[in-house]
Amino acid sequence: MQRYFLPPEQFHLTTQTVTIEGDDAHHLARVMRAEIGDKVICSNGVDREVLVRIAELDKGRVTAEIVEELTMDAEAAVQVWIAQSLPKGDKMEVIIQKGTEIGAARFLPFLSDRTIVQYDAKKEAKRSERWQKIAKEAAEQAHRNRVPQVESVHSWKQLLQRAKEADVAWICYEKEDGQQLRPAIQQALAQGKLGPGQQVVIAVGPEGGFTEQEIVQAEEAGFQSVSLGSRILRTETAAMVGLTCLFYETGEMGG
Ligand code: SAH
Repeated sequence: MQRYFLPPEQFHLTTQTVTIEGDDAHHLARVMRAEIGDKVICSNGVDREVLVRIAELDKGRVTAEIVEELTMDAEAAVQVWIAQSLPKGDKMEVIIQKGTEIGAARFLPFLSDRTIVQYDAKKEAKRSERWQKIAKEAAEQAHRNRVPQVESVHSWKQLLQRAKEADVAWICYEKEDGQQLRPAIQQALAQGKLGPGQQVVIAVGPEGGFTEQEIVQAEEAGFQSVSLGSRILRTETAAMVGLTCLFYETGEMGG
């Protein structure tokens, strides 16, 4: 069933209705060709999800009656942040879209020594709006209960600081020949660090990778450097592989 994330003010308690507006209304009416009486799911992205029946269809606005409160939970227990050194082109969009489908809780783009893209702070607002929209649409499509947050672009120092909030922080380093991801996950599981609500950061470098000095600094800040195996993955592949492996081990990928 189609699902839309709506801001809380579009849930109307007194009339037990919701209003679907803007792009979502267009999508529902024009793209999905919905009709009066059709049912969709609306979520406030935090703690409320309702089954609704369409009562009125206008171009810019759809009104629907709440039929039932829902309690489905498609969220991963452990909260994974993908910390991604800003990649070239539209790769960040792909990472946000796929990472949201798989179940990441948060995206944290950052700049590191070998970041290739020219970071343009002026374009930041527009771009972060676009990234958040991609996360919303991917979460709708994946039938998630929450929209992952896409944070603003962090400096390397800010990333090291933020990672201190997490229960576990891994930095993916292709030259790591000691710690492999799987035993690292198993160790964190055994230490009770991958339970419900706990926070895990997976940091991935840019096309050119991390410098040795960055790895040293990250380790000093509490990161554990991990290898994802003997093949070199592209930056946009590495984040997805790390996330999927973690969720496989914690039972989020179908048992
Ligand atoms: N330019 C580097 C590779 C960088 S790959 C080289 O050619 O050697 C881009 C990012 O993906 C890396 O910074 C790392 O975070 C991640 N990555 C890719 N393959 C990896 C692997 N096998 N193990 C751990 N991290 C990996």
